[in-house]
Amino acid sequence: MLIDRLRADLAALDDRALRRSRRTLDSACGPRVQVDGQPMLAFCSNDYLGLAGEPALAEALRAGTARWAGGAGASHLVSGHYRVHTQLETRLAAFVGMEAALYLSTGYMANLGVAPALVGRGDAIFADRLNHASLVDGALLARAELKRYPHGDLSALARLLARSTAARKAIVTDSVFSMDGDLAPLAELLALAERHACWLIVDDAHGFGVLGPQGRGALAAAGLASWRLIYVGTLGKAAGLSGAFVAGQADVLAWLLQSMRTYLFTTGAPPALAHALLTSVDLIEQGDARRTRLAALIAHLRAELQLSRWQLMPSGTPIQPVLIGDNAEAVAVAQALWDEGLWVPAIRPPTVPQGSARLRISLSAAHTAEDVRRLATALQRLEKRP
Ligand SMILES: *Cc1c(COP(=O)(O)O)cnc(C)c1O
Repeated sequence: MLIDRLRADLAALDDRALRRSRRTLDSACGPRVQVDGQPMLAFCSNDYLGLAGEPALAEALRAGTARWAGGAGASHLVSGHYRVHTQLETRLAAFVGMEAALYLSTGYMANLGVAPALVGRGDAIFADRLNHASLVDGALLARAELKRYPHGDLSALARLLARSTAARKAIVTDSVFSMDGDLAPLAELLALAERHACWLIVDDAHGFGVLGPQGRGALAAAGLASWRLIYVGTLGKAAGLSGAFVAGQADVLAWLLQSMRTYLFTTGAPPALAHALLTSVDLIEQGDARRTRLAALIAHLRAELQLSRWQLMPSGTPIQPVLIGDNAEAVAVAQALWDEGLWVPAIRPPTVPQGSARLRISLSAAHTAEDVRRLATALQRLEKRP
């Protein structure tokens, strides 16, 4: 019976210690949270600027619901598109230096929709092997041939591009890789896109708000502009709320508005959220002090945390993974940290390659230097434990 097969699949997850469960929080997002009744110091969220807990943002949400009440009521092209959605799109496009933008409910939906709108059967997608799952799913949905190149390997990518006879081509990459924290070589990728007549889709989920002048993102940081560039920013990480946007050249966005199925066939996000997101962009733009504090915490962790067996991976972003290797050891270390009130997620295959289980530390401007010291001290002690 179908249900027996499903139960066997669940049991198999249990056998391999791969069954995942949720921790339930009883307090707002921030470094100090109540989890299942316990006070914890958390290094897990992507709230890099500490905006999720920012009172001005909570107030903007209240003002948004006072002005726009509840849901959008329909999809954008039916009757679910509000003035404030347009205002947000205009603001976001200008902020990242693009001509136009489209606001979507989540980054997953943006990535699921963008590639299929640009390429299809007979075309090809070239994707970094460490790209986020949503980009992989978008590529599969596009039904184009999917060519994955080894992480950051520009010569492998160049070879694949040179050999391709596809009608239309798109290179797809994370800007900041979510489990490693390192940066894609965006300038070189754009040069390849130009040489081989490709789109270049850049998922800046972890860069928007953090990288570049005033947090304008990875493309602004690299000083890149081209009609080939399609920028995906997400609004649930540094922006502290929820949502995403796709930005680029005006004709490209005009086409996406006609063809992105994850935009067309879904209810518009609540206009109140768009209202609050305008405040979020303001806070990001005025957030140099937060970004400076974040950079100091990153430098502090890297200076403080001296490891021998484990390895703090090379990363200059708030994602600071500690490579442990063995799955069971990574889980045991995460549990030992948890037992002393420190919450750091262990990331195992298939999220990361076999043999590269790690702790994924993520830092926020809302952390203190003392928080970081406490984590570093605990990790160094646990590494020496037999
Ligand atoms: C989080 C994330 C997404 C998905 O964004 P959501 O808004 O959370 O759906 C997409 N890409 C990357 C690289 C991410 O880390």
